[in-house]
Amino acid sequence: MTEQQNRRLGEFELIEWIREQAGTGTHLTLGIGDDCCIQRLAPDQELLTTTDLLIEDVHFKRQWTSLYDLGRKAAAVNLSDIAAMGGQPLSLYLGIGRPTTLDDSQVKELLSGFIYQTRLAGAVLVGGDTCGSPGPLMLSVTVEGSIPCGCALRRDGARVGDSIYVSGTLGDSALGLKHLLAGKEPSADLAARFHTPEPRLELGQWLVAEGLATAMLDVSDGLISDLGHILQSSAVGAEIALERLPLSAAFARELAADRALYDLALAGGEDYELLFTAADSGLEQRNVEFPVPITRIGRICAEPGLRIVQADGTAYTCSKHGFDHFAGS
Ligand code: ADP
Ligand code: MG
Repeated sequence: MTEQQNRRLGEFELIEWIREQAGTGTHLTLGIGDDCCIQRLAPDQELLTTTDLLIEDVHFKRQWTSLYDLGRKAAAVNLSDIAAMGGQPLSLYLGIGRPTTLDDSQVKELLSGFIYQTRLAGAVLVGGDTCGSPGPLMLSVTVEGSIPCGCALRRDGARVGDSIYVSGTLGDSALGLKHLLAGKEPSADLAARFHTPEPRLELGQWLVAEGLATAMLDVSDGLISDLGHILQSSAVGAEIALERLPLSAAFARELAADRALYDLALAGGEDYELLFTAADSGLEQRNVEFPVPITRIGRICAEPGLRIVQADGTAYTCSKHGFDHFAGS
């Protein structure tokens, strides 16, 4: 490698490169380059804000993923929180704690993936911070989005009698991770669900526009754990049908040989599907024109707690729990 290629960009040269790549948006008066960005919000809209921290070897392993995909995922999992309220993402902020082992081309690869996913969502990277890290690679991501006043789908709106729906399929990401942990190469489908999840923005916005859902969140910690948040916030209980859980062909194939894999669909996490409740029990039919299918998996009831019922009517006990950073599970 020549000396020129080896040279590390200065902080301000890198920021200038980011500014050129980030582009702009109609809501932006001023983007990257000053002390603050300046943005306009329509008068009838509320601002949604969400933030997440991603730490190497806690949330990701660099040897499992390309830096481009890591950048994409860092944006996607945060955009998923905007999808989970039914909002439109506007602006993203990216803080990078950069270890000395990450060279310029790797940082640019990471940023390119992040910006690609951001543009895909119709949003703009408008700011951040870039520092050296003496240890792991750290990414702090913040997303702002907009939603018509009073329309955000919160966790506390589920009512007794509502149907429970989930988008896409469950467990694929966790099954992909299981293979990676075992030192095996997951199939392309499972690997994609783990490395490059897709925020369900269109579905979230459609549910808001149609006024159909009563409560919603995205499944990041696992169905049981995340449905538990809706139940607790809404002070209700639920019953779900195990055999109704939507599964991909790849997942179903492995499940046929190992029924315990149901636990990954129930508690594996990192699905980034939307889980929502609605008074209408026939939404699956209304949703036909949508790119991502939805499945009715159960209903909300008055009796507290969550019951998972099998086809023969008996209860299913999941032996896996959602992830808790402080419990270290
Ligand atoms: P300050 O000293 O005001 O914090 P910086 O020199 O850190 O300013 O940043 C200058 C500009 O570059 C700001 O607009 C900031 O938001 C942006 N910026 C810095 N790092 C990043 C990054 N990793 N991604 C996007 N924008 C960034
Ligand atoms: Mg700064």
